[in-house]
Amino acid sequence: EENKPMVENAGPSPPLAGANVMNIILVAAECAPWIKTGGLGDVAGSLPKALARRGHRVMVVIPRYSNYDKLQDSGVRKTYRVDGQDIEVSYFQTYIDGVDFVFIESHVFRHLEKNIYGGNRLDILKRMVLFCKAVVEVPWHIPCGGACYGDGNLVFIANDWHTAMLPVYLKAYYRDNGLMKFTRSVLVIHNIAYQGRGPVDDFFHVDLPEHYIDNFRLYDPVGGEHFNIFAAGLKTADRIVTVSHGYAWELKTTEGGWGLQNIISENDWKFRGIVNGIDTREWSPEFDTHLTSDGYTNYTLETLQTGKPRCKAALQRELGLPVRDDVPVIAFIGRLDHQKGIDLIAEAIPWMMGQDVQLVMLGTGRPDLEDMLKQSQNQHKDKIRGLVGFSVKMAHRITSGADILLMPSRFEPCGLNQLYAMSYGTVPVVHAVGGLRDTVQQFDSFNESGLGWTFDSAESNKLIHALGNCILTYREYKQSWEGLQRRGMTQDLSWDNAAQNYEEVLVAAKYQW
Ligand code: ADP
Repeated sequence: EENKPMVENAGPSPPLAGANVMNIILVAAECAPWIKTGGLGDVAGSLPKALARRGHRVMVVIPRYSNYDKLQDSGVRKTYRVDGQDIEVSYFQTYIDGVDFVFIESHVFRHLEKNIYGGNRLDILKRMVLFCKAVVEVPWHIPCGGACYGDGNLVFIANDWHTAMLPVYLKAYYRDNGLMKFTRSVLVIHNIAYQGRGPVDDFFHVDLPEHYIDNFRLYDPVGGEHFNIFAAGLKTADRIVTVSHGYAWELKTTEGGWGLQNIISENDWKFRGIVNGIDTREWSPEFDTHLTSDGYTNYTLETLQTGKPRCKAALQRELGLPVRDDVPVIAFIGRLDHQKGIDLIAEAIPWMMGQDVQLVMLGTGRPDLEDMLKQSQNQHKDKIRGLVGFSVKMAHRITSGADILLMPSRFEPCGLNQLYAMSYGTVPVVHAVGGLRDTVQQFDSFNESGLGWTFDSAESNKLIHALGNCILTYREYKQSWEGLQRRGMTQDLSWDNAAQNYEEVLVAAKYQW
């Protein structure tokens, strides 16, 4: 297969992949900028571009949830049988930044864009079955730039339980029958908390040979004996990756594995942690397009001392908070969920309100937590903004204008907001868990080293202690603060490193028989 030409890209160009140039198809339920609910969408939008920059031929396949702009109809129509019913799919496509994006269209995906993981259990299951069945044959049927990828030298990268059926179908329908002999699959764990669980009888809805049932059957004290899609994907994939080293370790423990720890431990030989990168064109204070109006401004390390205060003032003005440079602005951005520890922030609010600080929280999720955001704003109008909504623009603006970012997550596979924060000179205060442990080293005033503050258990008093020290440094030790900002901003957080690590995993899978 021929490769697409390399695309011009900002920053140093990494070496070509040489003899190991591969065809790579990343498969996910979401992909920025079309559809994003969390970190998975960011990863699906940016890892493929970084792999393409290394010389690979790369495709992303997602469902077409609505009529996205500027897609071409490939003209290809296929019918797949899902639980006894024939469903027609069509394939749309586009080509951006060196990556082929393919969208699978079917009536079952339509009108889901507000709630892509919603619906009753069996409907969700059938959607994922259809999607995975339709994806495996994309390299045969969809011409990209004139030529199909073909199934030689091909690796699928599946993501989370939604696409964990893909390695299973690849094996059961094709490789067990001598087809797709040179195709491999990698399954990436972004969050183990969602597994595609159901009663054992769900197996009879997924159209597999009977002997495959044992791959899905799992017993744990919480769920009893049940059907588990993630379990089957982990067993059948050629390689497993997760999004940080800390999380890779936690996944093998009883507390962190959520019932899958034994399967992950048994498959340790094919398992590896790779910390996510960030899309440095989307998320850099220098090029951020959300900072070009309303008083915000782009800035770099050189203009940090004037640019960031301007963003801070613009944020305070936009949110109707007192415009003051000397008050630390503390931020939280994320899903309002037990995982993210937003309730720990709620518990710390009485303490915070005794300090001269401003608190800005942006999120959507559990209704009671959304209420908490609104109520705390009502109670402290001059100090708190609780913004309920999903706004990429506000997320960027808050990241630029805040001084401190709080991430008290109970578990955090990788976490992206702390990475965005550091690259904008915003200092993170985090629970040292999963990817937060990997990426935020505790500040050490003696050596003037580290990137932020960490606390070692998800409790509000620990959060308060760490935040208290952070605020003290912000107020009293300007040089230390600048050092923290500088170290955060000069890290290489781009996808280039991570893409090289993924490449090693893909190559290892390729040569495995
Ligand atoms: P997770 O995938 O667990 O939700 P991550 O930190 O990996 O957490 O990624 C979350 C992504 O979603 C980040 O890009 C973050 O900025 C974004 N995000 C979360 N909540 C919101 C929101 N309310 N508005 C805008 N962006 C949000």
